[in-house]
Amino acid sequence: MQKKDIKCIAVLTSGGDAPGMNAAIRAVTRAALANNVKVFGINYGFQGMIENDFLELHYEDIGGIIGLGGTILKTARCKKFTTYEGREKAYKNLKERNIDGVVVIGGDGSFKGAAQFSSEFNIPFIGIPGTIDNDITGTEYTIGFDTALNTVVQAVDKIKDTARSHGRIFFVESMGREAGLLALASGLACGAEVILIPEMLEQEEELDRFIHKDLVNKKTSGIIMVAKNYPSLKAIKNC
Ligand code: ATP
Repeated sequence: MQKKDIKCIAVLTSGGDAPGMNAAIRAVTRAALANNVKVFGINYGFQGMIENDFLELHYEDIGGIIGLGGTILKTARCKKFTTYEGREKAYKNLKERNIDGVVVIGGDGSFKGAAQFSSEFNIPFIGIPGTIDNDITGTEYTIGFDTALNTVVQAVDKIKDTARSHGRIFFVESMGREAGLLALASGLACGAEVILIPEMLEQEEELDRFIHKDLVNKKTSGIIMVAKNYPSLKAIKNC
């Protein structure tokens, strides 16, 4: 499809919300309007595409949102979109509005859904990586990761005050779904004693060393950063 053939697009946010999604919605909308392309926002991601939850976006609708967290279009995880029937319904709703292309702001799951849809129906999708997980192939950066990292660091700095004052060890569980990148980056930035992520299971030896050597000989407090999906997280929680 040529650029000049595109008269109308839709934009949606999908998967987990990530800081910066609103800035991306604003940028997509303003760039489209500047090129005389009509823009529809779709509420609640693929769910809204199936349930016909569309709204036309005008210049003023996306004013004042650049620094706002979350997403003004809301987001969702949608089982129905993983079925052909669901995607077919979504296609009909897009066609009804003569939508020529869709911009999806989301993570790897959202991109898988978009790729599946585009392989079945003649509406192209563009993906903008928007996830705090930073786990998208082909890019080192995803919208939201850096802000999430800074949020974790701020929170852990305060936890460290208490850890030091009371001589305690804190296990901090970070978000990041299947990926340990947020735990790794925030653990490094905070000076965590041990970082436990699913990609590096051998780090449990470090935990053992910290508890049985460092804590006995020199340290009185510390932070152990654990990724959300760390396999033995449950066991750690029950300690
Ligand atoms: P985050 O990184 O924040 O978790 P994500 O985009 O990876 O975001 P997912 O829940 O994995 O979040 O995916 C979002 C949605 O994309 C799913 O709820 C589903 O509707 C759709 N989706 C994911 N995988 C597929 C697939 N293989 N086929 C069709 N749709 C899919």
